[in-house]
Amino acid sequence: METAEQHVSRLVANDAAALGIAPPVVRFVATNSGPCYEALFDRIEVDARTLLLPEPLLRLVIAHEVAHATQRRALLLDFAWTVLGVAALIAGPCVMFAAWPDEDLWRVSVPGAVFAFVVAMFFKAWRAHGARRAIALELDADAKAALICGARPALQALEEMTKRGIVDEIRLQAMRERCK
Ligand SMILES: [Zn+2]
Repeated sequence: METAEQHVSRLVANDAAALGIAPPVVRFVATNSGPCYEALFDRIEVDARTLLLPEPLLRLVIAHEVAHATQRRALLLDFAWTVLGVAALIAGPCVMFAAWPDEDLWRVSVPGAVFAFVVAMFFKAWRAHGARRAIALELDADAKAALICGARPALQALEEMTKRGIVDEIRLQAMRERCK
């Protein structure tokens, strides 16, 4: 009789094979934080509550997380661009301080105002972009999970998880569209 952990590890290996990628590392954690995929370490974290899910839901959740591993390159690039963006943001005032005249107005007020404006714009755009990107990646992972589990079982599992408040309505709607 295999343990719940062995069962999950086997699902991960099978799903990875089905998607044509190397299986990500699986890490079991005692928290209830929900499952997640960490692109940096190519690792799926499975929490205690996920281990207790009924089989059809567990299958979809694991297939979805393994599908995120197919997005690893994109996820890592997103991360790199964010780090570069923040670094450029911080470098901006330093360059302004170095380049502009050595008077109070130019030393403090103008760079300060420009910096505040750029930061505000940057974060607004970055958050909007991040939200759109996150949804697109979630839907892509669901589509791949549906290939593994079958669209109908995937839809049923998502419906159950939406009822439990684990999954949001957007993902459920997209899965319904796939089943039409
Ligand atoms: Zn996801």
